[in-house]
Amino acid sequence: INWYPGHMKKTKDLLKNNLKLIDVVVELLDSRIPFSSKNPDIDKIIQGKPKVVVLNKSDMADSEKLKMWQDYYAAQGIKAIPVNTIGGKGVDKIVEECKNVTREKMEALIKKGRKERPIRIMIVGVPNVGKSTLINKLTGRKSTQTGDRPGVTKGKQWVRLKGNLELLDTPGILWPKFEDEQVALNLAFTRAIKDEVLDIETLALRLIEKLMIIAPNNLKERYRLNKLGDTPLETMDMIGEKRGCIMAGRELDYTRIANIVLNEFREGKIGKITLEVPQDLVNDKIEEE
Ligand code: GDP
Repeated sequence: INWYPGHMKKTKDLLKNNLKLIDVVVELLDSRIPFSSKNPDIDKIIQGKPKVVVLNKSDMADSEKLKMWQDYYAAQGIKAIPVNTIGGKGVDKIVEECKNVTREKMEALIKKGRKERPIRIMIVGVPNVGKSTLINKLTGRKSTQTGDRPGVTKGKQWVRLKGNLELLDTPGILWPKFEDEQVALNLAFTRAIKDEVLDIETLALRLIEKLMIIAPNNLKERYRLNKLGDTPLETMDMIGEKRGCIMAGRELDYTRIANIVLNEFREGKIGKITLEVPQDLVNDKIEEE
């Protein structure tokens, strides 16, 4: 993805400039991949500014694993809010938590003799976590102007929300982690990065491999398999046969199978599946040592 190195600095600068204007950062994560969808530098960039963590697309996540992520954040003193932006579930809680985490600061300003002013919010996150959808939900508008580049682009505009809050109407688009293979795969599975990163047949095979471990029953149920294959490729073949993905000469059409599996995963048809748990981070750290 070509913008990473060249625009990274510019994006950081843009974010820093906007940060001066805001009281609280709303960091959107994808509930299915709370670790992979987190920008690696966000906490350094915002330098102690109040932050609210949103676990978005909670409707697509495994509820037990969602709870694990909430607990993980709670242990760090952060309230992570599960939200289904499209369904409108949890959106009010974001606003409430923005008020909570800025209360002290706003009260201090008033004590210093400043006039009461709205709490200014900016929404940030990597591509595809639902930033625009959330802005539209909060403002009640149909479309949001987003720039074609990461960072905060176009003329700044504040939109007044209920309860004395103001929202920056352009989201802060952050770059994802891109050094770790599993992270890149998770981002591609959920379509946060485009399919071109990997050919879709390989991508689907890697997703099947993952699902065979973390959600074997979902896979069996969705594709009506009595048992899974011994290998991901064997399972992929079985799915292809069930779905009639056969080309002339009775060969399996892997492109078609790949599209089916990836699309059905992304649409939540294979089930509510979370791809990573906080324990994965601990295990990674242990392996590194
Ligand atoms: P952005 O790139 O961060 O601005 O993401 P968008 O707002 O464009 O959303 C990316 C995709 O995720 C769109 O297809 C949205 O409809 C979808 N989306 C956003 N929020 C949710 C949610 O809470 N649940 C589900 N299932 N899909 C969502």
